[in-house]
Amino acid sequence: MAKKTARKGATRTKTAARPVASRKVASRNVASRKAATRKAAARKSAPAKAAGRKSAKTATISRRAGQAAKRPMKNAKPSARAVAIKDVGGAEVRRDIGGVRLEAGRAGTGRIKRMIYPAGYKWSTDTKPFVDTDYCMHAHVGFLVQGRIDVVYPDGCVEVFEAPHIVAVTPGHDGHVVGNEPAVLIEFDFESDTISKFGMPDAHRHD
Ligand SMILES: [Zn+2]
Repeated sequence: MAKKTARKGATRTKTAARPVASRKVASRNVASRKAATRKAAARKSAPAKAAGRKSAKTATISRRAGQAAKRPMKNAKPSARAVAIKDVGGAEVRRDIGGVRLEAGRAGTGRIKRMIYPAGYKWSTDTKPFVDTDYCMHAHVGFLVQGRIDVVYPDGCVEVFEAPHIVAVTPGHDGHVVGNEPAVLIEFDFESDTISKFGMPDAHRHD
């Protein structure tokens, strides 16, 4: 059972399901944890921070020089803006939801997407308010190009995806970005038919 799932590639850790009470405490502490992460980021001279500082400086200089400073994306969190990742050519959809940037285009009956999850992003904090489910009910199939995403299932199992990494995640999970850089995920889906077309299980389980 455990070996079967481990072969999927991601580092999967079986942990005992945390009691509901501690989970609630954990979610209440998200803000302070984020603040701690920001402080940690400030202490380190991380490349992401250096890039952010450089782009801010560049913007000032270009304004001084009378050039049009590149306008940052509206509604995006600063950490997502800090990386210079160009718009996706061929995308028919560009959206920012809860700090997550989504760009998508069609390929036959499927879709190709590029998702950018900002540093500090957590599904249950940043996306759950926009949906009416307790967990993310999407299957995610694709390729993590940058960053690290930890996916947590209701039974406490954790899958760690650190770029570059193949991604195949079943519906019913929480997830968060680990580290100081945004996570960039290329995804393929067939909207409501994603699971059947890929032949994936409809939920995380140990058979
Ligand atoms: Zn499990």
